[in-house]
Amino acid sequence: MSKRIAIIGTGPSGMAAAQVLASDGYNVTMYEKHDRPGGILMYGIPQMKLNKNNVLKKAQILQDLGVEFILNTNVTKEDVANTISSEYDAVLLATGAEKARDISIDGRQLSNIFFAMEYLTDNTKHLLDGSPLKIDAKGKNVVIIGGGDTANDCVATALSQGAKSVRQLEISPKDQPRKKNSYDFDEDEIRLYQKTAVKFIDCDGEGCVAKVVTDQVDFVRDENGTKIEFNNLNGEMEADLVFVAIGFLGPLEEALDAFDVELDRSVHNKDTDVFTTNKENIFICGDARRGQSLIKWAIGEGKMAALAIERYLQ
Ligand SMILES: Cc1cc2nc3c(=O)[nH]c(=O)nc-3n(C[C@H](O)[C@H](O)[C@H](O)COP(=O)(O)OP(=O)(O)OC[C@H]3O[C@@H](n4cnc5c(N)ncnc54)[C@H](O)[C@@H]3O)c2cc1C
Repeated sequence: MSKRIAIIGTGPSGMAAAQVLASDGYNVTMYEKHDRPGGILMYGIPQMKLNKNNVLKKAQILQDLGVEFILNTNVTKEDVANTISSEYDAVLLATGAEKARDISIDGRQLSNIFFAMEYLTDNTKHLLDGSPLKIDAKGKNVVIIGGGDTANDCVATALSQGAKSVRQLEISPKDQPRKKNSYDFDEDEIRLYQKTAVKFIDCDGEGCVAKVVTDQVDFVRDENGTKIEFNNLNGEMEADLVFVAIGFLGPLEEALDAFDVELDRSVHNKDTDVFTTNKENIFICGDARRGQSLIKWAIGEGKMAALAIERYLQ
C-alpha cells in the first residue's frame, strides 16, 4: 500500500509538494483552514491581480492526481495533530508566515483598524461568494500603513471599492530602489514617503478611529546600519479605516505547538534547505520555514521538501 502523507496548508508550497508526492505514487491529504485551497494565492492577492479560477484549476489538477483536500479544518489542537502524526507516515507543515507585524502606538485598540490580510480576505470572499463586505472602504478616508506589495494590494482594493481618499504611509525615502506597483494607480498621488503613524485619534470617545497622527522620519546610516529618527513634525490625516501592512513575523505558533515542532532559525531560514524538524516524521517548507517571501520560492521549497520526505520514507 502506498505511504500516506498529510500536508497542512494549501498555499503554493503545499500544493507544489503535493504535486511531486502524488505524481510519485504517494497518497496525499491536504488540510486547509479556509473554505477554499490556495493560501495567499486565494485570499491574499486580490482577484483583479490573480484570477481565483486559476488557483482552483491547480487544485483540480491535484485532485485528478488523487490528492484529497480537507477544507475548513484548522489544525491547531494537540490531539488532532497527534492523530494526524500517527495516521500518516509523514507530515508536511506548509502553513505560511501569517503572523502580522503590528504597530504599537497610542490608539491601536480603536475599531476600524485592521491587518491587511483581514481586509484582503474579506474582499475576496465578498467577490467570490457575494457575501456582504465586513470591511467596506466605499466613501471612506483610508490610511494604509506600509509601502510594500501587500500595502499596494490594499490601496488597489480600497480604490476599487470606491474609497473617498486613500493615503499610504511609507517609512523609507522615495529614492530607495523599488519596483512599480502592479496596478494602474499613481503612487505619487497616494504614497507619502518617510512618514509613519505615531498615534490614532478616537472619533469623539466612540471607540473608532477618526484620525492618524503622522511624523516625518529620517533614515540615518552609520557603521551600525540604518536608524530611524523621528522629527516630531506631527501632522494629522482623516482616517475612517486604517490597514496595517508592515510585514509578517513568521508562522502562527498554533500549528507548530500542536505538532510540538520548534523552529530553529539557525537552520530554518532562506539561506538553507533544511526541511526536517525536531520531530522525525514532520517536515516544514515555504514561508512557514523561511519567512514571508515570494511564490517562486514557496513552489521551490514545496518541491524540495517533497523530495526530502521521499528520501525519509525510502
Ligand atoms: C497580500 C500578499 C500579496 C502577495 N503578493 C505576491 C505576489 O504578487 N507575488 C509573489 O511572488 N508573492 C506574493 N506574496 C508572497 C506569496 O504569496 C507567499 O510567499 C506564498 O504564498 C507563500 O506560500 P506558502 O504555501 O508557504 O504559504 P501561504 O500561501 O501563506 O499558505 C499557507 C496556507 O496554510 C493554511 N494554514 C495555516 N495554518 C493552518 C492550520 N493550522 N491548519 C490548516 N491550514 C492552515 C493557510 O490558511 C494557507 O492556506 C504576497 C503575499 C501577501 C501577504
